[in-house]
Amino acid sequence: MRPEILFPLFADAKTLPGVGPKTLPLFERLGVRKVGDALFLPPTGVIDRRLRPSVQGAMEGTTLSVRVVVLSHSIPRRPGAPYRITVNDGSLDFVLVFFRPSPDWLTRILPVGAVRYVCGKIEHYDGIAQMPHPEVIDPEKEDAPDGFAPVYPATAGLGQKVIAKAARTALDAAPDLPEWLDPAWMAKRGWPSWHAAVTRLHAPEGPGDLEADSPARERLAYDEMLSHQLALMLVRARRRRAKGRVSVGDGRLQGKVRASLPFALTGAQERAIEAIAADMATPHRMLRLLQGDVGAGKTLVAFMAMLIAVESGGQAALMAPTEILARQHHAGLGALAEAAGIRLAILTGKDRASVRRATQEALEAGEIDIVVGTHALFQKSVAFADLRMVVVDEQHRFGVDQRNELADKGQGDGVGADILVMSATPIPRTLALASYGDMDVSVLDEKPPGRQPIDTRMVSLSRYDDVVDSLRRAIANGARAYWICPLVEESDVLDVAAAEDRARVLAHTFGEGRVVMAHGRQKPGEKDAAMEAFRTGAAQVLVATTVVEVGVDVPEATIMVIEHAERFGLAQLHQLRGRVGRGSARSSCVLLYQGPLGETARERLGVLRETEDGFRIAEEDLRLRGAGDLLGVRQAGLPRMRVADLEVHGDLLAVARDDARLIVNRDEALETDRGKALRVLLYLMERDGAVRYLGAA
Ligand code: ADP
Ligand code: MG
Repeated sequence: MRPEILFPLFADAKTLPGVGPKTLPLFERLGVRKVGDALFLPPTGVIDRRLRPSVQGAMEGTTLSVRVVVLSHSIPRRPGAPYRITVNDGSLDFVLVFFRPSPDWLTRILPVGAVRYVCGKIEHYDGIAQMPHPEVIDPEKEDAPDGFAPVYPATAGLGQKVIAKAARTALDAAPDLPEWLDPAWMAKRGWPSWHAAVTRLHAPEGPGDLEADSPARERLAYDEMLSHQLALMLVRARRRRAKGRVSVGDGRLQGKVRASLPFALTGAQERAIEAIAADMATPHRMLRLLQGDVGAGKTLVAFMAMLIAVESGGQAALMAPTEILARQHHAGLGALAEAAGIRLAILTGKDRASVRRATQEALEAGEIDIVVGTHALFQKSVAFADLRMVVVDEQHRFGVDQRNELADKGQGDGVGADILVMSATPIPRTLALASYGDMDVSVLDEKPPGRQPIDTRMVSLSRYDDVVDSLRRAIANGARAYWICPLVEESDVLDVAAAEDRARVLAHTFGEGRVVMAHGRQKPGEKDAAMEAFRTGAAQVLVATTVVEVGVDVPEATIMVIEHAERFGLAQLHQLRGRVGRGSARSSCVLLYQGPLGETARERLGVLRETEDGFRIAEEDLRLRGAGDLLGVRQAGLPRMRVADLEVHGDLLAVARDDARLIVNRDEALETDRGKALRVLLYLMERDGAVRYLGAA
C-alpha cells in the first residue's frame, strides 16, 4: 500500500496546469505520467531574473531583466523579416525582436508608451543591442522579476514555460518526507533533505544549484541509485531464502568428461565450477551470472554444472535465444555427452510434432538427462521428471520473467531449479553493479592457452581492391572468411553497402558457389543451408549481416572483414571479431572503414586494434560514448536513471550498493524508522515490486 504522504505526487499528470489532451502524450514521452514525475525533469540552467538598471555593457549572450518604456513598433516590410519594437531602459534604446508574431498580440502586450519588465537574452546586431522573444511582464498585473528561474530543455514539442509550470506545480505538491538517508553520511557530503533538494532543483538560488555535482543534485542522484540497489538487494535476499534443491554431484560424470578432453580446464573455469557446485549444494536457489568473453570456455563450465544436476539424479536444460544457436549447442555438446554417457536431446519450435511429442514424453519420464532448446522449452506442455538446473545463454535476449518461468518448472511448492545465466557481453564494472545486483557473478577472465592473437587492421574502403586481392590469395590457400555488411538492402540515403550486392560482386570475383550469404530476412532454411556450406568448407566466404554476431562457431574460419566498421558499436565489433581466432591457425580481422574518420571514430577503432580484452573494450566504449548512451545502457539492462548520471555520479553507485546491503542485513523487513522512510523512497521511485517482497518474506 502506497504511503498516504505520497498521494499528492501520485495524482495523474492530467491534473497539472497547462496539460491537456494534446500535451499529455508529449509529457508522457518525457516520462511524466503523474505529478511527481515532473520533479525528475532536471533543468539545464537558470535565468538570472534579478532586475538590472540597464542593458548597457551587458555581455553578448547574457540573460537579464530590465524595466523599459515602449517607444515604437516597426512592422516587417517583407515576409520572414522580424517584428521590431524599440524600447528604452532609462539609459539606452534597444530592440525587442519577434519572429512571426501575431501583431495584435504585440500591440496588446507592448503598447507604445507602456512600462514593462522584459527578461531575455542580449544579442548585438549591427552594434545595436536586441533581445529576441523576451518574457514580458506588466508591472500592474504581476510582480517584478526577481531571483533565478530554472530553464528546462524544451523538447518533444513542449515549450520550456509549460514544463516549468508543471515542475513548479509538482514542487508545490511535494511534501516533506521522512529522512531515509543516514544523517552522518548526509552531513559528511553536505546534502540537504529530499524536499530541500528538489526545491533547489526547481527553484534554484543561483546557477550553482544546477551543477551535476551540486549537493542537491548529488543527493537526488544518490536517492535514485540507492532505491535501485535496495530493490535489487531485497529481491536477492528473498531469493536466497527461496527454497532450492540440494544437488551434490559425485564427480563421476564430470571425471569422464575431463578424461576425454585434450586440454585442462583453465583456473578461471575451475573457480567458476567450484562456485556453482557450492551454490547447488545449498538448499537455496542459485542465480548466478557466468560472464566471459567470446571463446573463454563458458559452454564447458555450463556443461559441468549441468552434469552436477545429472549426477545427483536430476535433469538440466540449456536455453538458447535462437534456433541456430540451440542446434549449435546441441551439436557441440554431443561429444561431451557421449563421453559422460548421458542422454542429450534437443527441443525447438521447429521440430516435427511427432518428434516433439516423443521428446516431451521422454523428458517427463526422466529418460533425457540434458535438453537443449529455444523458447519452446517454456511451453506449458513441457514437463520434466526432475529439473534441477537451467542454463540460459545470452542473458540480454531473455527477460527476467522468462528465465524464472523456466526455472519454476523445476518443482512445485516454490522450489525452483538453480539458474545459471551465460553472457558474452562484457559489461563495465560500474554498469554491472547497477544491473546485476540481484545475481552472483563468476567471471572467466582467463582465456584457454594457446590462442593466437588476432591480427587486427584498419583499412580504408578506398583500398577495397587490395583487400580483395589478398583475400583471393588466402582463399586459394584454403582459408575461410567472413565478410560482414551493416545492412541488408541498399539504401541510397545511407549509402550502405548492401550485403546482397556485395555477395554478388564477391561471387563474381571468387567464383559462384564459393560465396554464400546469411542475413536476417532470409528464409530460415536458406540461411541454415548457407551456414552449413560454410561450416563444412563447401563455401569459403560467408557474406553476412550481424546475424553471425552471436555464437556461430566455425574454428576453421580465420579471416573477418567488417565493411563500414565505423558504423558498428565497439562491443559489436568485438563480438564479430571473436568469430575468428577460435582454432589453432593465425587469424586476422580487417576493419574496412569509410573515411574520413572523426577523432572519436578513429580512437574507437584503435582500441580494437590494441586489445582483445572484452572488458577493457567495454570500459573504453563506455568512456568514449558516455554512460548516457541509450544503446549501451539498454544492452546492459540498466534501468533508466532520471537524475543520476553515471559519468558524474558513478562513484556513488558503489556506496549506494554497500548502503543497501547494510540496510538489508540489519532491517530486511524495513521496520525500523529508517526502514519505514526507505519504504517511502521505494514507493516514490516506483519500486513497488520490491516492497511487495517485504510482505512475502
Ligand atoms: P564461449 O562459450 O565462452 O564463447 P566456448 O565454450 O564456446 O567459449 O569455448 C570456445 C572453444 O574453446 C571451444 O572449442 C572449447 O572446446 C575450447 N575450450 C574450452 N575450454 C578450454 C580450455 N580450458 N582449454 C582449451 N580449449 C578450451
Ligand atoms: Mg559460446
